[in-house]
Amino acid sequence: MSLLPVPLNVRAEHQAVLELPTDKPRATLPVPNPTQSFWLRDPGVQPAPAHGSTGELTSEADVCIIGSGITGVSAAYHLAKAVARAGEQGTSLSVVVLEARDFCSGATGRNGGHLTAHAYSDFRALKARYGTDEALRAIEIERYTVNEVYRILTEENKVEHVDFVPGGRVVLFFTAQEHQEARLDYEAAVAAGVDMQGVEWFTKEEVQKRYGASYPAVLIPGNNLWPLKLVSVLYNLAQNASDRFSLSLHTHTPVTVVSPLRTTSARRWQLATPRGPVACSYVLHATNGYAAHLLPWLHGPNGIVPTRGQVMATRASETFALGRTGFVGNQGFEYWFPRPNHTVSTTGDKGQLVILGGGREATRGRGYEFHTVDDATINSEINTVLRRFLPAVFPDKFKVSTEPEMEWTGIMGYTKTKDPFVGPLIDPSDPGSEVQYQGQYISAGYTGHGMPRGFACAEAVAGMIYADVSGKTWTEPKWLPLHYLTHQNVTKDNVL
Ligand SMILES: Cc1cc2nc3c(=O)[nH]c(=O)nc-3n(C[C@H](O)[C@H](O)[C@H](O)COP(=O)(O)OP(=O)(O)OC[C@H]3O[C@@H](n4cnc5c(N)ncnc54)[C@H](O)[C@@H]3O)c2cc1C
Repeated sequence: MSLLPVPLNVRAEHQAVLELPTDKPRATLPVPNPTQSFWLRDPGVQPAPAHGSTGELTSEADVCIIGSGITGVSAAYHLAKAVARAGEQGTSLSVVVLEARDFCSGATGRNGGHLTAHAYSDFRALKARYGTDEALRAIEIERYTVNEVYRILTEENKVEHVDFVPGGRVVLFFTAQEHQEARLDYEAAVAAGVDMQGVEWFTKEEVQKRYGASYPAVLIPGNNLWPLKLVSVLYNLAQNASDRFSLSLHTHTPVTVVSPLRTTSARRWQLATPRGPVACSYVLHATNGYAAHLLPWLHGPNGIVPTRGQVMATRASETFALGRTGFVGNQGFEYWFPRPNHTVSTTGDKGQLVILGGGREATRGRGYEFHTVDDATINSEINTVLRRFLPAVFPDKFKVSTEPEMEWTGIMGYTKTKDPFVGPLIDPSDPGSEVQYQGQYISAGYTGHGMPRGFACAEAVAGMIYADVSGKTWTEPKWLPLHYLTHQNVTKDNVL
């Protein structure tokens, strides 16, 4: 029996539970009093957490973006860049971002901090379901995102500002089954021509020597960073991109309903908020786990299932150096990385601070935290296994008795294919919905893996909006998996 405090090899069961019909209510708005995450505590960046929460509300804009996470802010960034590229001859654009709580206080502000492109994960399943080209695109979009984010941070001299650490990711295999599945996916990806530069396989003895844990593993290229700081960099770049682009942000302004404007106004849509209405021509739902609140057909297993994740900041023993590498274990259920420059606590405790997330599989039999939007509380069962997890993986290097310095929860958006919905709004039960919702778009449902996808999906959807605004035809980028698109992939049911 395993000494690890979590059940192993439960991915298939987890998937089956995700796909069950639910009698749980539809997602609510984000709860008003969330737990505080490491990333949101005193980040010292602009915009301020409550930016635009008081004073006059912007009454209209060309584009309303609902949600200020990596998706919403990246969309604003890409729209701004499109306007700047078009220059004097191009279309000018006004954009407003509406956020229910503090700036970037959803999943992006509460996640595990990994920005890592999958090297081969699920390659065989993707190839079987969609074909080789789509499986390759699923890898390409993540590499594209990571490269673009790094390019922007480098050009803006912000690599250190966001604590970008290209330390790699070590995937630990706790079971022979997991190890074998990974090898088969890797070999299938290699056979399809995927470049595996930087990927190295290690025996458990090599892992013990290098990293202090006694499991076989693979090292893939990977990064960690401070997600809110990245989003703030993108926001400020958008704001300063062009005189022909205006960007405003209203936090603490939840959108409660989106309805058509039946007036003579040139604007198509009205967004109701407790602070008054906002009229706009285009709407982007960048609400991820909360998407079904405004879009009821996304409730349930064919849509986007709000799923609560839990993370803690804990400290290794003084003598143990994890270096700069990120890790995942147990089929990705657990993920952790050591923070750079955090080797002494405010109370003088020495040792590297580690951000560790996961533990949902400990709720096996009790729903895996699916169908919850409550990030105001933590799950004590998960707290118990997370505390025991690193001491079990790295014996003697962590103590079960160590109090986590912070612990928080956040809401992910799961889909049953693990892929997001990207494109025009389409309600599969309503054949006329694409026309009915004309001008409304979505990019949401990253299934806990949004950092290497949200930026690029936002680029795709911003490209669609900008093409429509300027009377052009949108052409899909070569890195975009076409199976992400709402109009290719009307319901996640159709593709299974
Ligand atoms: C605990 C946890 C750990 C994770 N770890 C990782 C990781 O290490 N690496 C990784 O790649 N991914 C990770 N993820 C997933 C990743 O964080 C998400 O996929 C990604 O941040 C989604 O970004 P987003 O902008 O689409 O959504 P969000 O960041 O959730 O943004 C949506 C925003 O919309 C707002 N909103 C919702 N409804 C409304 C409304 N009606 N009106 C106004 N505003 C509204 C919300 O308040 C929120 O701020 C993790 C997620 C969680 C929760």
